[in-house]
Amino acid sequence: LKANFVYLKNENNQVKGLVLVLQDITEHEKLDNMRKEFVANVSHELKTPITTVKSYTETLLDGAMEDKEICKSFLNVINRESERMARLVSDLLQLSRLDYKKTSFNFSKFNLDKLIKDVVNKLEISFKEKNHTLNLGLNDENIIINGDKYKIEQVLQNILTNAIKYTPENGIISIDVKKQKEYVIISISDNGIGIPKEAIPRIFERFYRVDKARSRDMGGTGLGLSIAKHIIEEHKGDISVESELGKGTTFKIKLPVNLIVL
Ligand code: ADP
Repeated sequence: LKANFVYLKNENNQVKGLVLVLQDITEHEKLDNMRKEFVANVSHELKTPITTVKSYTETLLDGAMEDKEICKSFLNVINRESERMARLVSDLLQLSRLDYKKTSFNFSKFNLDKLIKDVVNKLEISFKEKNHTLNLGLNDENIIINGDKYKIEQVLQNILTNAIKYTPENGIISIDVKKQKEYVIISISDNGIGIPKEAIPRIFERFYRVDKARSRDMGGTGLGLSIAKHIIEEHKGDISVESELGKGTTFKIKLPVNLIVL
């Protein structure tokens, strides 16, 4: 708590009163620390790929270019790292637009079951690559919701991509949709590596990852879940996670069916 005094004086310089301003700085300090941590994280995330690109380019220029095989493998690394930087910048831009409410949400009624099928189709190659089995429980209800279709698609894609990534080969991934009063609940479960108990409360934080090296190896930016949470909250919904280490993870997305947008 910060205290400031101001004396109120009359024309003759006599003290007539006192104003005491008490300011709660803990919130301010917390925000300031979060901002510092964020900048440190961004710098670190960018530094790693930049260092790699630079050292591989230098080695190529120093003569490694003569060997066609080496040249190709180095260029592949440079390409992969540049893609990572592009993804990171694009995720950061999106988060910043969401923070400053610069993202326009285009609400319309759409068929949620159809959207889920579309997302699953787009991810077919990733499912096949890891030989995962998909259980799609849509109940043929044809649920219609009011929301921003492309942003909800992005959320589903982020969560499903994580389920695919963080589940070893031959895994089982299930998607279930059910109506509960005026909400629809989408559950996405996997039987993958799971999330340790102590990490669960932090999982939606920007840049938080259980295993930084593993996430980076798989091309992750550590921002997917924070973007998802932001988007769901803009829909007056809620996103939560249950997980058991070594057993699997379930993400639950709760969305109002008839969101009234003012
Ligand atoms: P990333 O780009 O690292 O995947 P996310 O924000 O999407 O970033 O996820 C944050 C972290 O949450 C991941 O690094 C991973 O540790 C954990 N995580 C997310 N989904 C799952 C899942 N289905 N199973 C296990 N861990 C997960």
